[in-house]
Amino acid sequence: MTRCGVLALQGAFIEHVQLLSALGVDTVQVRRPDQLSGLDALIIPGGESTSVGKLAVAYGLVEPIRRMAQEGFPIWGTCAGMILLARDVGFGQPLLGVMDIVVRRNAFGRQVDSFEVGLDIPVLRTVSTGAECGRPFPGLFIRAPLVERLGPAAEALARLPDDVRIAGQAGAVVAARQGKLVATAFHPELTGDSRFHRYFLAVAGS
Ligand code: GLN
Repeated sequence: MTRCGVLALQGAFIEHVQLLSALGVDTVQVRRPDQLSGLDALIIPGGESTSVGKLAVAYGLVEPIRRMAQEGFPIWGTCAGMILLARDVGFGQPLLGVMDIVVRRNAFGRQVDSFEVGLDIPVLRTVSTGAECGRPFPGLFIRAPLVERLGPAAEALARLPDDVRIAGQAGAVVAARQGKLVATAFHPELTGDSRFHRYFLAVAGS
């Protein structure tokens, strides 16, 4: 059975724990470095990335998580978690800096500009069954970042549909993967659709 840690310093960690528990996954709310041992995977949830980064520094979590990521440990960052995984956000805040992506924070504007849009995410076909097959994934963007630049080590898993343009540009990258590191600008844990969690668990177990 997979044992999945959820970084529980700030933000939407409990929703990940609930969704994973519903999938029968054993979860650990991680607040201290010793809680990282014995895990098979780790989720860094959404929230406020500067706060999470500063708390992670204060609790001595940055170095061990960075080392795990560099050694191939499966980590998925959602929203603020994506920001923490990025190598650069153009802003002086603590980062893990382990994914070859440059991320723009708050790319869609303020909280009131939050929105939901159906996303075509081809990799989810491998975990979809029955009525899920072919159904767009509910992309929930809450003061979300986007991937401004995708380095050669990373690949895009999802792009915004053509009618959602950012600064006149269509097709912005909103989910990426690099080895067993996965990042989404949106919040699958708030949708009740468990396909992205199942996809990450499959990546972790591969
Ligand atoms: N806007 C937040 C940040 O920049 C991220 C928002 C979220 O995680 N929903 O840290």
